[in-house]
Amino acid sequence: MTAENEAPERRWAPTYRAHCPTCRKSGRKFSSYGNAEEAARGHAGKHVHTTYVVDQYDIRVVGSVQRPDSVAEA
Ligand SMILES: [Zn+2]
Repeated sequence: MTAENEAPERRWAPTYRAHCPTCRKSGRKFSSYGNAEEAARGHAGKHVHTTYVVDQYDIRVVGSVQRPDSVAEA
């Protein structure tokens, strides 16, 4: 039983997380960008923090920024 035996394709699957620079926290990982964006939007609305989605390299996904003022009415 070694780590190498874990499904290798999973290591390369993209993962997305909502990240809040204000809290300096990232949410749970999602394999779907849409779910991470939803989490980011939820955090932005709840905490009034600008939040965005990062990929598995902690790089911000272009266009993923969720601003509190734009999600408040959703
Ligand atoms: Zn926050």
